[in-house]
Parts: sequence; C-alpha cells; structure tokens
Amino acid sequence: MADVFLQHKENLRALPRWLGAAAVLALAALTLQFTPHVPGELQTLSLCALLFCLWGAWRAWQRSLAAQLAREQDWQQIINEAIEALPAGFDLWDRRDRLMLCNQTLRQLFPNVAADLKPGVSLHTVLQKTLQSGALRDAVGNETRWLEERLAQRGSRKEPLLQHYGERWLHVYEQRTPSGYVVGLRLDVTELIHAQQALAATQAQAQHDRQLMERAIDAMPAGIEIYDEQDRLVLVNQRMVNWLPHRNNAQAVGKDYETLAQSSWFDDLLPSDPEARRQARLLDRKTLRGQQDLTLLNQTPGGLWLKTTETRTPEGFVLTVRQDVSDLIHKEQALKASQAKLKAIIGTAGVSILTLDEDGVILSCNPAVERLFGYSREEMVGSAISLLIPEQSGEVFGSACEVAGRHKNGQTLTVQLALAVVPDQDNDLFVAVLSDITQRKQFEQELQVANARLLRLSTTDSLTDLANRRLLMDRLDDEWRRGLRSGQPLSLALIDVDHFKLYNDHYGHQAGDQCLARVAEVLRRSASRPADLVARYGGEEFVILLAQTDADGALAVAARCRELLRAAHISHANSPHGELLTFSIGLVTQVPKPGSHTGQWLALADQALYQAKAEGRDRAVAAQPVASS
Ligand code: GH3
Ligand code: MG
Ligand code: MG
Repeated sequence: MADVFLQHKENLRALPRWLGAAAVLALAALTLQFTPHVPGELQTLSLCALLFCLWGAWRAWQRSLAAQLAREQDWQQIINEAIEALPAGFDLWDRRDRLMLCNQTLRQLFPNVAADLKPGVSLHTVLQKTLQSGALRDAVGNETRWLEERLAQRGSRKEPLLQHYGERWLHVYEQRTPSGYVVGLRLDVTELIHAQQALAATQAQAQHDRQLMERAIDAMPAGIEIYDEQDRLVLVNQRMVNWLPHRNNAQAVGKDYETLAQSSWFDDLLPSDPEARRQARLLDRKTLRGQQDLTLLNQTPGGLWLKTTETRTPEGFVLTVRQDVSDLIHKEQALKASQAKLKAIIGTAGVSILTLDEDGVILSCNPAVERLFGYSREEMVGSAISLLIPEQSGEVFGSACEVAGRHKNGQTLTVQLALAVVPDQDNDLFVAVLSDITQRKQFEQELQVANARLLRLSTTDSLTDLANRRLLMDRLDDEWRRGLRSGQPLSLALIDVDHFKLYNDHYGHQAGDQCLARVAEVLRRSASRPADLVARYGGEEFVILLAQTDADGALAVAARCRELLRAAHISHANSPHGELLTFSIGLVTQVPKPGSHTGQWLALADQALYQAKAEGRDRAVAAQPVASS
C-alpha cells in the first residue's frame, strides 16, 4: 500500500524533470535548426535527445497513471473491506434510489431480498419484495401506507427508524448526502430490544407487584406507615387515611419523621397518657426510634383506640403498624367496671363468699366471712377451709347443702353452703357461698313444735283431751271409704250423758266439766283397739268410732262402757234413776255402700240414742241394720 503511494509520488516528481529536460532540449534543437553552420549530426542528436526526453516524460506519465489506478483500486478495496467490516448493514443509493453498493451484513440482515441486492436494483423493487415476504411485521396488512410513509421519510429522519424484521429488530439510519446520495446503516438491535423488553416487562412486573403490594397494604386491617432509611415518610395506607381523614398525607409523604413530629401531623393521635406519649416521642426520636420495638396506645379524634408498633427492617426502614384495638379496650374497660362492681357487691354482700384452691386452701374472703366466723381476713387466707367447716362429708357441689361451721369462739353454726367450680387454665378455682342459717334452723325447729301443737289443738277437745268433732268427721270419712273398698263393717256408738242438766244444776258447771272429763276417761278405756276413735261430739255427747267392727262388737263395746262407768262410781244426786251418773248409747253398724253417706248413718245413730232415752235411759239401743239393696 505504502509502496504504491511512494511510487506514484516519485513518478509524479520525475515527470516535470523529464518535461523540463524535454523543453530545454526542444529549445536547443530549435536553436540548432535555425543556427547556421551547425553540423547536421548535432541537429539529429539534439532531436534524438528531445525524443528521448519526451519518451522519458511519457513513461513517467504512464507510470504515474498506473500508480494512480493502483491507488484508486486500493482505495476501493480499503473502502469495501471497511464496509464489509462494519458490524452493521451498509447501503449506498444514487440520486434515483438505485443501489450502488451494500455489504454482506446487509444481505444477511435481509435474507428474503439478499439475492436482489445487487448494484442497480431500485429501492422500490427491494421494498416491494420485502413487503411481499411479510417479514416486516409492522407493515403486514398495511403495506401501501407503510411504503408511502417510508418513501416520504427517506433520508430525512434524524432519529433511527426501528424496524421489526422477521425475528429481528433493526435500527435503520438513513441520510441523504449533500450530493443527493442516500447512505443507509442498519444495526441489529434485537438483543438490545429484547433486553429493553425484558427490562420493561420486569419494570411492569415490579410496578404491578408494587401496586399489588400497595393494594394489599391498603386492604390490611391495620394502619401502616413506612419510613425510608433516612426516616422520610414513604407510604401511608388507606386504612390510616380512613382512620384519620383530616391528615394531609399527600403533603406528608416525602417529609422526614422529625419534621412531621414537630408539625401537627401526629397531634390527632391523642395519647392514652399525654405525658407518657411526650416522653415516648422524645425517647423515640433520640434513642428508641427504630432501634427496638416500641408499642404505644393512642386514641383518634373519632374515638378509635390504636395500638402502635414501630419496627426497623433490615433495610433500615421504619415500619409503623397501627391496629384498631377499640373492641379490646372497650371490653377491658367493661371488664374493669364489672370487676369493680363485682368487688363492691362481694364486699357489701350479706352472704359470706370465699374462694378456695383445689386443696381447699382459702384464697380470698369477703367481710361477711369475717363477721360470720369471727376470724380476720389475714387469719383465714392461706388456712384450710377446715378452720371454718371442721367436718364435711358427702356431695357439696351443685345445690346448696347444710353444713356445720365453727365460730372462732367455738360456737357451732349451721351454715348453708353452695360450692361452684370456676374452671381456670392451670388449676380450678372454687367459690363457696355461705349463709348463716343457725337462727333460721332454730326457728324452724320451734315452728315445727308449734305446728305439731297446733295440729293437736285443732283436732283435740281441750276439756277431755279426746279427739274433737272435726277429727272425728275426718276419720269417719276415711273409714267410710275404707269400708267401701274392703267391705268390712263399720260401727259407731253415740253416747249422751243422762240428765246432765240436772247434774250441772246440782254440782255446778265446773264440777260438770270435771265430770265430763271422767266420762271421757271411761270411754277411752272402753275402746282400746288402735283403730278405735273416741271423740267428744259436743256438750255431754260422745262418739266411739269402731273400724272393722260388726254389730256384736259394737254392743260389746257399749256394754263395757256402761260397765266401766258404773265402776267409776260417779255420783249424780239428782238423777231420777238413782245416785250414780249414767248414759244412753245409740249404736249403728253398717258395711258402707256406694250411694249411702255418713250423714244418714249418723242420723240413724241419733235415732237409736233417742230410742234409748225414750225407753228409760241408762241403756244401749242398736239401730235396725239397713237393708242391703
Ligand atoms: P237427757 O237425759 O234427756 O239427755 O237430759 P239432759 O239434761 O242431759 O239433756 P239436755 O240436752 O236438756 O241438757 C244437756 C245439758 O248438758 C245442758 C248443759 O248445761 C249441759 N252441758 C252441755 N255441755 C256442757 C259442758 O261442757 N259442761 C257442763 N258443765 N255442762 C254441759
Ligand atoms: Mg245431750
Ligand atoms: Mg244428756
């Protein structure tokens, strides 16, 4: 290459020398020609020298031309090699848009028209064929317009044109030269585009993921604030916006925590304890913020209770999470209130309330226990329940039971105990409710005695201590029904003291009473069977009810009555029948029958008694048996 240049230069430098010499010789030859007396040989020699110089000049010129041609050929090769060495497709078009030259890379980039890319082919033909191949993705279905636009922009675009050709992406640079030629450069940017696409996809995915994360954070049932490593607010989620709607989050985002802390941004979160919050904020800012987990309790103007936790992430971000704990706080407040109420109730309760562990050790007691047993609270707590209830047997759970308690002074108490189990995580707790029923018990016993007495009084005749008329009528009904069921006979003796008015008249009413008591004693001894009932019917009249006794039995009882009365020897000085008291007896015997009743039966006894009186007194008369129907 260098040789060619040197030779060309040398030849070019030799040419003027040859031409100079030729000119000198031509001048010399002319001079010699027109100079007289110059030998003809010299003239010939000068002509020959001139010819030689001209030949030398011609040769130098020829050599120069050859060197120039060689140089141009070398240039051509250098340019061709350079064009081929380009990592891009290269093409050059003349003023009429006919291909002048292109490199192999261009043919490789456009395999569908590679064969056509020869010098002289028109751009229009190349583009048409390219469109027909369908390799130009952007132009498919839109070929005519694409072609128009392509030709309109030809050579004038400042920006590279991005073409999707087959599977490849190309950057097309086209520029018209001042001479009107169009030079094109086509760069394969497939990998770049793929990388860009991958990047865009990754960015889109990242954007999508971020959006998803933001939505997820928004949807979380917690308020979230995120501060970056320089403590600038990065994100406030929707929940926080909902809780604190008047906060200007848009202005706050990007500001650092200290600025926000100094502004009124946090002021709408009322601390549960204002002083504590102030201290916490100070500490928070200086030492605690993000260095260790911090938990605070705040209340919003809307009345919500928020529990705040601050945590620093490994990346140095501070994550503030606020949870709505209003329910919990309200429940806690309600619980505290109800506990206080319960404590007040237990403290003032009249009943004694104790709590015990599983071993029966007293854990707590109310003042009523102190009053009931005489021990102080300190003496009882920690002691076994046997201190208060020495012996306990049987089932104590469920319904209340009576137990014997012991007062500190040794006195025995009757106590009603109700025991309930309160299941606990570790050990069950027992609640014992004790009521002092000592007095009630005593009262109950007295009442029982009084009731028994009352019952006796209500069924007993006070003068004679016999059953009274009411008890008699009850017993009569019972025996009547029993007789109806058993078919056993039932007998009754109606006894009336004879001339008792005269007795009273003679001995006085008080003596009359004593007399009646003696008659009662006689009758009581006369009817000795357990089922017999002797009753005072009224005045000086008595009844002996004889269950499961027939007429003979009744007559026997009547006879014994009269016999024992005689034996009792009760004086009756005024009696028209002698000196002694007598009575008359009306007897009645019947197997109770359905349809008959005691009233009729008693009337029969009355009739028999009337008959005894009529027949002269001091006798027993049996009523005629009722004909069985
Ligand atoms: P008779 O033989 O007909 O039965 O004659 P009587 O006098 O017994 O009969 P009456 O029915 O006329 O009189 C009954 C008397 O019994 C009248 C009353 O003074 C007396 N009497 C009734 N109840 C009592 C009483 O509880 N105590 C006393 N002392 N007398 C009584
Ligand atoms: Mg009478
Ligand atoms: Mg009488």
